[in-house]
Amino acid sequence: MGGWNIWFALINFAILVFFLVKFGKKIVINMIEGNRQKISQELDKAKEAGENARQITQTLENMDAESRSQCDEILVQARERSKRSMERSVEESRSRADSRLKEAEHDVTSLKQQALTQLRDQSAESLVQETGKLLKSDRYARERSAMPQRFVEQLEQMLELTESDTAKLRWGDSLSAKLWYTETLDEALLKRIERLLSQKTGGRFKLVTAADPSLIGGLRLKLEDTVYDGSLEYMLQRVGEELEEDDCPKEEITVYFQKRFSEASTCPGCFQTGVVESLADGICHITGLSDVMAGEMVRFEGGLQGMVMDIEKNRVSAVLLGNYENIHEGAQVRRTGKVMEVPVGEGLIGRVVDGLGRPVDGRGPLQTTETRPVESPAPGIIARKPVSVPLHTGIKAIDALVPIGRGQRELIIGDRKTGKTSIAVDTIINQKGKDVICIYVAIGQKESTVAGIAAKLRELGAMDYSIIVSAKASEPAPMLYIAPYTGAAMGEYLMYKGRHVLIVYDDLSHHAVAYRELSLLLHRPPGREAYPGDVFYLHSRLLERAACLNDENGGGSMTALPIVETQAGDISAYIPTNVISITDGQIFLEESLFNSGVRPAINAGLSVSRVGGDAQPKAMKQFASRLRMDLAQYRELESFSQFGSDLDKATRDTLNRGRKLTELLKQKRFDPRTVAQEVVAIFAANEGFMDDLDTEKVPEFESGLTAYAYENAPELCRAIDGGAKLDNEQIDRMRQVIQSFKRDFTP
Ligand code: ATP
Ligand code: MG
Repeated sequence: MGGWNIWFALINFAILVFFLVKFGKKIVINMIEGNRQKISQELDKAKEAGENARQITQTLENMDAESRSQCDEILVQARERSKRSMERSVEESRSRADSRLKEAEHDVTSLKQQALTQLRDQSAESLVQETGKLLKSDRYARERSAMPQRFVEQLEQMLELTESDTAKLRWGDSLSAKLWYTETLDEALLKRIERLLSQKTGGRFKLVTAADPSLIGGLRLKLEDTVYDGSLEYMLQRVGEELEEDDCPKEEITVYFQKRFSEASTCPGCFQTGVVESLADGICHITGLSDVMAGEMVRFEGGLQGMVMDIEKNRVSAVLLGNYENIHEGAQVRRTGKVMEVPVGEGLIGRVVDGLGRPVDGRGPLQTTETRPVESPAPGIIARKPVSVPLHTGIKAIDALVPIGRGQRELIIGDRKTGKTSIAVDTIINQKGKDVICIYVAIGQKESTVAGIAAKLRELGAMDYSIIVSAKASEPAPMLYIAPYTGAAMGEYLMYKGRHVLIVYDDLSHHAVAYRELSLLLHRPPGREAYPGDVFYLHSRLLERAACLNDENGGGSMTALPIVETQAGDISAYIPTNVISITDGQIFLEESLFNSGVRPAINAGLSVSRVGGDAQPKAMKQFASRLRMDLAQYRELESFSQFGSDLDKATRDTLNRGRKLTELLKQKRFDPRTVAQEVVAIFAANEGFMDDLDTEKVPEFESGLTAYAYENAPELCRAIDGGAKLDNEQIDRMRQVIQSFKRDFTP
């Protein structure tokens, strides 16, 4: 039994082993297989992670290299920028030093000149006196006694009847003649003179003689108004005058004097004279001067000049150009035979002169040799060509809304203290480097105002291409009357030389008032609103001289910016309507706008430019018309919107746009813009880029944007500045630039 059990246990064990082997192997295999898969998965993952790590390292390396190169680039840029700004500041300080040096040189020269002039005047006067004494002495008795004989010989060649003498003879009158001598008169010489007069007048003359020791030597004959002066007194006087006028160096004065004296003593003077009848308020009535021309210069004793304004039958009226305290009734007046002329030429550039073209800036005599009549006819139609080149003012509102072309006449009109002068001065400042010569004519302005303008122009380097003609408020009316014509003559000379000129008349209201004063004093009848009847002619003959000449005539131009002051905004008054009708448009400045902070206070509705559109830079023309429309809509809605608060979206948008545009068009003084700066800013406003900004952020946005545009799209800005029309591609580029600036703009 015991053996059976053992067998049974063995068999069971064998069966167990069999099953264990059969099923356990599979499980073990499965387990091993599972583990292997897991391990390989883990391995894959590890491999992937390794790959990722490698990639990350690679990216890191790339980024590192990139940032290093960016760093380098930024460094290079920064270095370049700092170099540029260094250069700029060096350049600026150099130019500042240069201008200071120039000013100092100027001052030294002017001081030298003043000293020389003083010395020369004194020495001329004393020389004349000394020579006079010397000539009276016995040493020269022989020369003196030879003079009458020589005078009569020359008189026989010279004596001619003037037109007035002939007319008098024709009316049946006889001519009166007077002969002055020093001590004794030779009978034979007197007979010769009588014979000569009789021959010329057909025997109708009355001759009287008189002794006058002040002649020193020689003879003087006066036939009606014409004087033939062969006396030593006259010669000395002439030499003295020439010495005073001429710029002769001190050390040569004696040589010069002797030379001039010997020349002068061989040739008697011939001139027509008159006598001061009455004199008041800068107007002088003269008898005599029978053959004088209208507008002719006359010379009073002591050198004062006058201009003939009215010629009546028995008397002539002249305006006195200067201080007339030393003139008295009965004083002698001499014809000069020349109509009023002023110095012209490039030598005037940088100078301040008075209404007669005499320097008043203490910088020595003018370096000019040429003169030109103050009044001359305006160029005719054939000599002109249409205005086509812009005259860029640098003022956004003007360049966009009322553009000015070279050769145009654009009136600046507005009440007092509305920024009229500022616009003109800003325009002058903006002509720097544009080959335009600017002339600022101040008529009846305060001395301090003119000095301020001159100082500002000099400070900003604008005097290098400018001339100031100043007739101050304190000067007599004739100086105010003549000043604009003087400026026009200076401009005209340069225009005919092919140069471009900008002339500002500040202001023509004062000019009209001065002319009224003159006319009333000349006893001319008053006209409408007590202005003389020819006040329109006064301004039209001045403004017509502004022109754009065609190429045959040199292609020069003269642009005129006359200024007129209104009373309480009344542009329908006499002088404003006159000047508006003469000019090619007007810039109307409104006091209410000025006071509400809109400066320049241009009223866009009443301001026009009748020829400027053709002369507007093309890019500006593309976008400016939209601006004008938007502004017009804004103004219309603005007044309505004040009544109700319930506004639809379109109205609100228009008002919002208008507000932004108005803000954009504000501009400080002495802050001119380039064409590209103006175009980019106006385009941005037109496209609505400023609509969502706070209104007070507009100036900041504008200045940032324009700087950004110049930095990031210089080619585009250059094209606009060059006057090119923009194609679609360029417009898109401009839009992109504005978009990218706006993205980063944080107000
Ligand atoms: P007047 O009638 O005396 O001749 P005006 O009309 O010529 O005066 P301005 O002398 O040009 O006026 O200007 C008057 C004042 O307005 C000045 O003090 C000037 O500084 C200021 N002004 C003019 N334009 C501007 C501007 N764009 N921005 C700020 N201030 C201005
Ligand atoms: Mg002014």
